[in-house]
Amino acid sequence: MTAVDGDSETRPAASVDGDESPEGTDERKGKKARRFTLFALRKLGPRLKPHKRALAGAVVCLVVSAAIGLSFPLVVRYLMDAAFIQRNMGHLNQIALILLGLFAVQGVLNFAEVYLLGATGERVVTFLRIDLFSHLLDLSPGFFSRRSSGELTSRLTSDCSTLQSLLSHQVAELLRQLLYLIGGLSLLAFLHARLMVTVLAVAPLVVVLGFVVGRYLRKRSIQVQDRLGSANATAQEALTQIPVVQSFVREDWERARYDSRIRSALDAALERAWVRGGFFGAITFLAFGGIVAVLWEGGRLIVAGQITAGELVSFLLYAVQVAAAITALGSIWSSYQEAQGAAHRVFELLETEPDIADPPDPVPLREEGAGPITFENVWFRYGSDDPWALREIDVRIEPGEIVALVGPSGAGKSTFAYLVPRYWDPTRGRITLSGHDLRRLELAELRQRVGIVPQEPMLFEGTVAENIAYGRPAAERAEIEAAARAAHAREFIEALPDGYETAVGERGVRLSGGQRQRIAIARIFLKEPEILILDEATSSLDTESERLVEEALEAAMRDRTTIIIAHRLRTVRRADRLLVLQRGRIVEQGAHAELLARDGLYARLYRGQVLEPEEAPAV
Ligand code: ADP
Repeated sequence: MTAVDGDSETRPAASVDGDESPEGTDERKGKKARRFTLFALRKLGPRLKPHKRALAGAVVCLVVSAAIGLSFPLVVRYLMDAAFIQRNMGHLNQIALILLGLFAVQGVLNFAEVYLLGATGERVVTFLRIDLFSHLLDLSPGFFSRRSSGELTSRLTSDCSTLQSLLSHQVAELLRQLLYLIGGLSLLAFLHARLMVTVLAVAPLVVVLGFVVGRYLRKRSIQVQDRLGSANATAQEALTQIPVVQSFVREDWERARYDSRIRSALDAALERAWVRGGFFGAITFLAFGGIVAVLWEGGRLIVAGQITAGELVSFLLYAVQVAAAITALGSIWSSYQEAQGAAHRVFELLETEPDIADPPDPVPLREEGAGPITFENVWFRYGSDDPWALREIDVRIEPGEIVALVGPSGAGKSTFAYLVPRYWDPTRGRITLSGHDLRRLELAELRQRVGIVPQEPMLFEGTVAENIAYGRPAAERAEIEAAARAAHAREFIEALPDGYETAVGERGVRLSGGQRQRIAIARIFLKEPEILILDEATSSLDTESERLVEEALEAAMRDRTTIIIAHRLRTVRRADRLLVLQRGRIVEQGAHAELLARDGLYARLYRGQVLEPEEAPAV
């Protein structure tokens, strides 16, 4: 009957939703999260609408199948009585055949129900995944800088799977078990009121015991998980830093640390095993004790001629159905809570409004190339509690000008540059291109005009040619090759095993940092943006590679408005103008020689006197 449920291992759902809840005590947070999540599952409603017919069909199958299941003990009763009392072989055969027939019908109904629900669940969740991924692609880089990609992919994968199993199995199981519970209890009360009384003497004991011990086991399981988590963290820390551990000869210390943590997890687990064992012993005793009580009472009633053996057997079968339903409902409840958490996380993402979006009535940019870029009293901070990353920026960058941003690390160089393709919007002030506020332009048009060579370019799964043509998939082979040539990438590409058709990325050939950079530069030649943002690589390449990259960049910068995020000062001399940033302000600007002569921050930086990263600026 009731058994120790394996679900006590899973954590309660509250622990999975709290992540974005507003501040408050844990309890308040939990309540709020529960309210949210209850709401969240309802949001699946509209997505089920197109599958109304399949769902209705499944429900009909399920109800009829449960009705057959519930009629089983009744039929058994007649079968038993035919055998024991009437000793009528023909009757017995008949009833057995009827039973077989009923179960055959039930089998077909079960097949239809499981298939219909399974297919609906898979479809609904596939479309949910498609919508979610498509929505994620529209969110701003700012959004992604606040979330780990692991978290986002887990929403796409495991949270969506949780919802799928809810739709495909759990809802049906919930309905089925409720039908068995209510139907079974009603039939028991109706057909065997006397025997029910005997059961009611034992059942509450089992239920209360199950409830109390279940709670205790759940708490213990959380404790075991937490302690295991802490032991794992210790192990991971030591293993990822193994050279440090070994060079400081701290192996014994790490061993002892892991040992004490894992042992404390063991203590909690042993206690849990003890209670679980005791519970299992007690509950099986109670369950079988209950059966003995029923058999004894039933036997007395048979002896007294008040019921037949068939009635006793049907009673026992109903009792088993009801008990099984209660056990199943317990575990369905916990998966239901889990699904609520998953729905909350999925729909929260799906409902995140992109903070950078197209204006309702975008101003078209004129065809003939980008005009000047102006920053007009721009202030920027990443979050309302963050310090200003840029302050009072007033700059005009002329078309074709090469501007290098220099300054200590953390001064705001990258922030400045990435405001141009509207990765973020200024907190105050405005940025214009050809006289139009960036926020008034169509996002795709603006970004089409801005090319970025990132610090550490990444390649996508695919061939070299496909990677170069990433920004213009329709490009001809000759154009791709011309771009590769301009980016000084031709030689190394031709030396690859399959030339332009060589597979690169995760599963392909690994390219060096310098080679990846040249592919990123080749992308620029194909895309032909009017504005170029160059995020200089911080890690130095070997001299040969560096020379090739520099030459390629020089070609890419020709006739383009270029903003260089300079991490190393050696390369900025070719800029027309340097903007020296410090704590988010432009403190100096001018050509290299001019600034050196001024002997200010740039001159000090250049001579390598300021080496430490800047401290976090005051708000
Ligand atoms: P630089 O490129 O000059 O090294 P950044 O523009 O990267 O400087 O950073 C300027 C300031 O903004 C720093 O204080 C940095 O910590 C902060 N910052 C940068 N990126 C983010 C971000 N995504 N969220 C919050 N703060 C950020």
